[in-house]
Amino acid sequence: MAGVMKLEKYGETNEGRELLLAFVSSPENISRLEEIRKNNLRLTGLLKDKAGDVNAPVIVWLSYNVHGDEASSSEAAMKTLFELLNPANAATKEWLNNTVVIIDPCINPDGRDRYVNWFNSVLGKNLNVNPNAREHSEPWPYGRSNHYNFDLNRDWAWQTQVETKQRMKKYNEWMPQVHCDYHEMGPEDNYFFAPAAEPLHELITPWQREFQHTLGTNHAKYFDANGWLYFTREYYDLFYPSYGDTYPTFNGAIGITYEQAGGGRGGLAYLKSDGDTLTLKDRIAHHFTTGMSTIEMSSKNAVRMMNEFKRYFDEAGSKGIGIYKTYIVTSNDHNKLDELKSLLTNNKIGFGDFNRAGIKGYNYFSGKEEPVITEKYSIAINVVQPKSALIQALFEPSSKLTDSATYDITAWSLPYAFGLKSYAVKENIAVTSTTAHPVIPIPASSYGYLVKYNSFNDAKLLASLLQQGVRVRYAEQQFSFRNKNYARGSLIILRSGNESVFASVPAMLMQHHAEADVVESGMMQTGVDFGSGKIRNIKKPNVAMLTGANISFTGSGEVWHLFDQQLGYPITLINADDIAGVNWKNIDVLIMPGGFYKFLSDKDGANELKTWVKEGGKLIAIESAAAQMASGEWGIKLKKSEEDSGTKNPYASLRKYENRDRDGIVNNIPGAIYKLEMDNSHPLAFGYPDIYFAVKLNDNLYDFMKDGWNVGVVKKNNQVAGFVGNTVKEKIKDGTAIGVVSMGAGSVIFFADDPIFRSFWENGKLLLANAVFLVGQ
Ligand SMILES: [Zn+2]
Repeated sequence: MAGVMKLEKYGETNEGRELLLAFVSSPENISRLEEIRKNNLRLTGLLKDKAGDVNAPVIVWLSYNVHGDEASSSEAAMKTLFELLNPANAATKEWLNNTVVIIDPCINPDGRDRYVNWFNSVLGKNLNVNPNAREHSEPWPYGRSNHYNFDLNRDWAWQTQVETKQRMKKYNEWMPQVHCDYHEMGPEDNYFFAPAAEPLHELITPWQREFQHTLGTNHAKYFDANGWLYFTREYYDLFYPSYGDTYPTFNGAIGITYEQAGGGRGGLAYLKSDGDTLTLKDRIAHHFTTGMSTIEMSSKNAVRMMNEFKRYFDEAGSKGIGIYKTYIVTSNDHNKLDELKSLLTNNKIGFGDFNRAGIKGYNYFSGKEEPVITEKYSIAINVVQPKSALIQALFEPSSKLTDSATYDITAWSLPYAFGLKSYAVKENIAVTSTTAHPVIPIPASSYGYLVKYNSFNDAKLLASLLQQGVRVRYAEQQFSFRNKNYARGSLIILRSGNESVFASVPAMLMQHHAEADVVESGMMQTGVDFGSGKIRNIKKPNVAMLTGANISFTGSGEVWHLFDQQLGYPITLINADDIAGVNWKNIDVLIMPGGFYKFLSDKDGANELKTWVKEGGKLIAIESAAAQMASGEWGIKLKKSEEDSGTKNPYASLRKYENRDRDGIVNNIPGAIYKLEMDNSHPLAFGYPDIYFAVKLNDNLYDFMKDGWNVGVVKKNNQVAGFVGNTVKEKIKDGTAIGVVSMGAGSVIFFADDPIFRSFWENGKLLLANAVFLVGQ
């Protein structure tokens, strides 16, 4: 009998579209699908009720259209489904006897519909192959991203987006042996299939490499027979762990990327510069072919595949992978630790309590081997567990590259991203179960409350209090009350000015798991009293952000998502092209994400913005927005490298043609981690210790300012992890990465790099919140 399909809805997108999985296999397999799933999970060790059986079907998961404007993917999913279910197709019938195929026809339906609706709206009765035709020129913000303009193919491990969260729950219930991610690249290219390019992560096993070759050889056979062009082993690497190929790879699967030429520019047909016409039909045929070939080879190698899969997880569950056997994470703030715990839980990574005595480990913050000193709250993650490789990939102190020309960032270690003190320990430390942190009751006060402020969670609380009309103050200096010290930035909520809402304050604090104390007097033991001028009132700001064409869609999307979904605080998105008509009186804070701002280069436009700042406005410029301001009169200057000033080696410009790709690497910074020294007496850095780990995405650094506040600086070469080219290395030292310039009654805050990168750089979110709520009050 032919294959049958079971269709399941696993969730909904931000715009309410359905997320679907199609399970296809023989009728016999489909009738015991749940048993097959459970058995497979037993093989991984994630389900422990009994031993798993290797004599079971291979699970092949095919994911389409994670990037919405790579349109041939979902079309190919339909053709693939059809042939799997086609009673006349003897081959697929055969394969489905020992294979379960899971098809996600569209990971990103909001992005795909954005693209398709636009495309249909500009298409005439006859298609046009001219590359300059408007149907080949997709408008901002393009269909690639989801509703909040996140790239879902960078989000697998972090799970910041609803699509990812819902899908990963399913993925971790199934843990397939093979996962393929379908993409498109520029229309002038051909086709890319496995094996992947260097750098391959060192955690990738010989079997995972071998099967990539097995697949590649089989695909090549079909492509050759049709005379189709393709390339392998170039460009698409397996390194950054949050892709649709690497994440499955670090979860014991064969993780694969397929790239078809076309992308957002392919339309229905496109005339390439070599004279060939690339049609949507061609694109579908190629994707369909690699899909079928993948299922074929998985089926033919099912016995080996299942045994290798079991061996992989047996090793993970008995020895663990890598030289570090335990990671310890510790904090005085349970909310900060909770953020990390939920990421671990979403990835099915186990953690727990442990015996703290006499452990030594690599301290991520100092870069040295030291005795482990724990703070108030701690967890240990032992790598002897099913997710061993994923743990190593996410926690490795310094990622090793076999090749430095990579497609994405080269460092992402979670202790830096979350700003949590951590140790990598070579010893295998036993982990016991842990209990959730209980909500601490906060008694009613007749005078006021003092609230600890040092995590993004506290900023969420602040945003919520302001929204509910609570007047909040903060201290510019530390003080003590009843023998307890309160750091700078501690929030002060007094009955005074809050009479009507005061009774509900304890509930608001508890809802946000705040750490708060009752205070009965305005006179402090040490430091300033509450009537002092050094106690600042936090005004509820009207926040706006510039967005639109020429502005980073991901950069502006991150800010939008932060306010709309995480802080729950209103933000007005204004198209940068409409800036001439803006009523500046309605804006207190203006955020400019990375991008190019035409009006800034225009004298009148720049002056209007400057006037608003001088009258009390607060401007937050991020990445290239800050760099663009450095070329105007805004009080900041970009640092020049020695190379730029031309004092170096006279032969430096003599290069060999064949080395042109390699030579380019010296100018590369594909996302590395730098240690910044922080002036945490400035409100921008309240809640932080005197260091901060930034993900550096460009080589911009600013001259130390005499007339401004150098809040986050790189001293010497403070690179901590990741790859940085030699020329760039020289440039990124002794300069300011985060600064504040006062202008009249207002201020300009600039970030050389994106502080909330992909929304997984958790520790930067408080910086942005401080910029919005605390600076310049
Ligand atoms: Zn893609």
